[in-house]
Amino acid sequence: MALVVQKYGGTSVGTVERIRSVAERIARTFDDGNEVVVIVSAMSGETNRLVALANEVCEFPSEREYDVLVSTGEQVTIALLSMCLQSMGYQAKSYLGSQIPMITDSTHAKARIKSIQDKKIRADLAQETIVICAGFQGVEENGAITTLGRGGSDTSAVAIAAALKADVCEIYTDVDGVYTTDPRMVPEARKIEKISYEEMLEMASLGAKVLQIRSVEFAKKYGVVIHVRSSFDDSQGTLVTKEDEEMETVLVSGIAFNKDEAKISILGVPDQPGIAAQIFSPLTESNITVDMIIQNVSSEGKTDMTFTVPKTDSKMALQIIEPVAQAIGARGTSSDTAISKISIIGVGMRSHAGVASRMFESLSKEGINIEMISTSEIKISCVISDKYTELAVRVLHEAFGLNREE
Ligand code: ASP
Ligand code: MG
Repeated sequence: MALVVQKYGGTSVGTVERIRSVAERIARTFDDGNEVVVIVSAMSGETNRLVALANEVCEFPSEREYDVLVSTGEQVTIALLSMCLQSMGYQAKSYLGSQIPMITDSTHAKARIKSIQDKKIRADLAQETIVICAGFQGVEENGAITTLGRGGSDTSAVAIAAALKADVCEIYTDVDGVYTTDPRMVPEARKIEKISYEEMLEMASLGAKVLQIRSVEFAKKYGVVIHVRSSFDDSQGTLVTKEDEEMETVLVSGIAFNKDEAKISILGVPDQPGIAAQIFSPLTESNITVDMIIQNVSSEGKTDMTFTVPKTDSKMALQIIEPVAQAIGARGTSSDTAISKISIIGVGMRSHAGVASRMFESLSKEGINIEMISTSEIKISCVISDKYTELAVRVLHEAFGLNREE
């Protein structure tokens, strides 16, 4: 007997038919002799609808009431799913976040989980009851409803799995796993059988939108094994788990790309102590996240500085930077929003040489110019012109032997 936590996303519970088929899968897991705790999202589109309603009644809804509103989507699905299971002859019981309770801090709309009481859930499981919990929501110590940020049900599921020391946390979604790259761009992309937490964090932050990033951080911290799989079939999905030796034999596990950044340059910056702080502090103060930063070797006491920010912040970043550039006596600024960042990711890089040069050679063979480079232990990223995104991803996918063999 195992304790299985299953999480079903919005598309998996998007219609009454889908809820029925999810109930059948839960019933099968229970009939196999497992204890089952289920976390559900709202029906697909519902949370967006609620957010839009809030914005219709007022421009800046209070955060407390925002959470009261957007958490209701999950109240609908836990009840429907429990009813469905009961009508099939199973004992099932639903819980809101506040009923479990799942205690969070009081940062509305992006609350962090502080603790989870497992007493009621354990008592139900002992009575052979299937427990259905609302994802995405919690309650702060004073009793106000909180939510964990969009996509937060993944984090609810992993946190509950950690609290219960579950054997596995299955995340059911509308794709059947994590792929070596976006299969819509590269049809030869392969499903990854097993990926380390570190690699998944890099993939997630680079736009592989399968799991909320925070859920992977949580899983890593508490050693929860995540199984990402499809609720539409029975195929084995992707295991997100601790790094092992086998993973290191693979040079590159995946190729990610991100078209959401813009590049800003400050030209002819005086090469003196304190200048970088003068440039980047005002950006931080305005909550603009800077990703890559490159500073050229200086010549004649001047240097060029280039960095990337989210495209949506690039106008504001320029407005902030221009007066700073003037004040420090720089020659000028420029920006480019038509860029994309291509990254190769793999824990195998730690122990193998020549990965970067293979990446650069592959891009150069196609005449793709590299504008910026950054590296970490398990990732190499290149900024290129966005019109070459697809070509670059395809070429690298092939160069690192990721194409599916047919
Ligand atoms: N329903 C919430 C959302 O759409 C939480 C989730 O689905 O994970 O963001
Ligand atoms: Mg999701």
